[in-house]
Amino acid sequence: MAKQTITVARGDGIGPEIMDASTRILDAAGADVEWEHIEVGEQVYLAGNSSGIAQEAWDSIKKNKVLFKAPITTPQGGGYKSLNVTIRKTLGLYANVRPAIAYDPFVPSRFPGMNVVTIRENEEDLYAGIEHQQTPEVTQCLKIITRPGCEKICQYAFEYAKAYGRKRITCMIKDNIMKITDGLFVKVFYETAKNYPEIQADDWIIDIGMAKLVDAPEDFDMVLMPNLYGDVATDILGLMTGSVGIAPGANVGSDIAMYEAIHGSAPRHAGQNKANPSGLLLSGVMMMVQVGQPEVAEKVHNAWLKTIEDGIVTYDLARKLKAQGRAHREVGTKEFADAVIERLGQKPSTLEPVKYDKAIQIKKPVLSNVRDTKMNLIGCDIFTKDDCDSKVIGDKLVELTEGTNIALKMISNRGQKVYPNGHPETFLTDHWRCRFYNKTQGDVITNGDITNMMNKIDAAGIEVIKTENLYAFEDGERAYSLGQGE
Ligand code: NAD
Repeated sequence: MAKQTITVARGDGIGPEIMDASTRILDAAGADVEWEHIEVGEQVYLAGNSSGIAQEAWDSIKKNKVLFKAPITTPQGGGYKSLNVTIRKTLGLYANVRPAIAYDPFVPSRFPGMNVVTIRENEEDLYAGIEHQQTPEVTQCLKIITRPGCEKICQYAFEYAKAYGRKRITCMIKDNIMKITDGLFVKVFYETAKNYPEIQADDWIIDIGMAKLVDAPEDFDMVLMPNLYGDVATDILGLMTGSVGIAPGANVGSDIAMYEAIHGSAPRHAGQNKANPSGLLLSGVMMMVQVGQPEVAEKVHNAWLKTIEDGIVTYDLARKLKAQGRAHREVGTKEFADAVIERLGQKPSTLEPVKYDKAIQIKKPVLSNVRDTKMNLIGCDIFTKDDCDSKVIGDKLVELTEGTNIALKMISNRGQKVYPNGHPETFLTDHWRCRFYNKTQGDVITNGDITNMMNKIDAAGIEVIKTENLYAFEDGERAYSLGQGE
């Protein structure tokens, strides 16, 4: 196999120290790799590049298709965009993979049996970043969940399970509330599961599911989550293993992947030869499997296990071992790397040695085409700004529908129906969602009907702030949610 060129970003804070330690270990293990260095992060931001990454760096990543990245510091203050979100979204790194494995008692953890891989969708959900201030009182953030996005991440999760011998995937969603968005995610999850009968598939509502996961992580094998839940869950799971310093991660797309630890640049510990390089090193192990050098990954991972088994640790773990009265030797970042290098070729004796016997390439997703699905326009929600009473605005809108083919069905405020027959107890803001259907409910309307209604509302002195079309599928199934109380 040809020598692999990998783009390396040494990052900020503790980044350069832990990256140097990690690449030194991989080199010593015989990685057939050329490291191509790029600058990203604080210095690039401060030089006036608001995304923290310059064109040459993009060129290197796109050419080599593998990025090994240390954490970076996002300067404080407005205007600086998250480099991680920029890289993930620009390069389509849709799958965030985070194994959370306890190495108790060598890394003390209150959850000694945990060995859970989280697959987090990485591009969609509330992280689409589409936010608006709609009225003086009301803001919104759009939660975008797409079918191709769900298909990509669900197929990735099952392919990962198959490749790494995992037996069960638990999908965590909130589809009892978000029936359409989270509902689509879990629907595609079960559609995908049909193609992988050897892997058990189940789901939990995220709130109770997370509670169960935190209570008994040993009961879980893999968890699959939309972006926001996954973001929260993976930090919790990372810490549950005993230290944020040992948790690895990968951001994977169809062609390009980025490997990095889950922790940040810990600026307070920078330049002191103190930080734990393990999270980044174990990300490097995941990377070596993917680039087709599984023997290097296995050698490094086993040497790392043996090192911590021998009680050789950096300050973060030393503190925990000391608190438990366990024998250990505290070393600096460089000395920890030396200790791992000394143990290359050895295996742990108490912890289970790892075995990576083949290069693992996750199959690219195959997407269905649903673009031709027929959806009929049967109504619209016109959002207005007003500070009057719900009865006043409702009666006014009913009057405005006279002589048109559409009728006002209801008005809601923050999702709760307030007209007709609202409850005086319901709290009201200056933001009204006014729902119109064809006078014969279920029959189609046109965009012309909607603009006509908007013009009438505007002419009556009521401010229109946005509209949302209401569709139904051919079989009559609604493609929107009902208002509470509708
Ligand atoms: P952090 O993860 O950098 O540090 C929090 C604490 O965790 C540290 O003070 C330290 O005690 C401990 N810690 C983290 N990594 C460690 C390691 N390898 N070894 C030993 N101890 C370790 O989080 P923070 O302080 O909130 O963020 C610092 C900076 O990092 C911020 O600028 C933030 O934006 C950035 N950040 C970057 C990334 C990334 O590049 N992927 C991720 C998260 C945060």
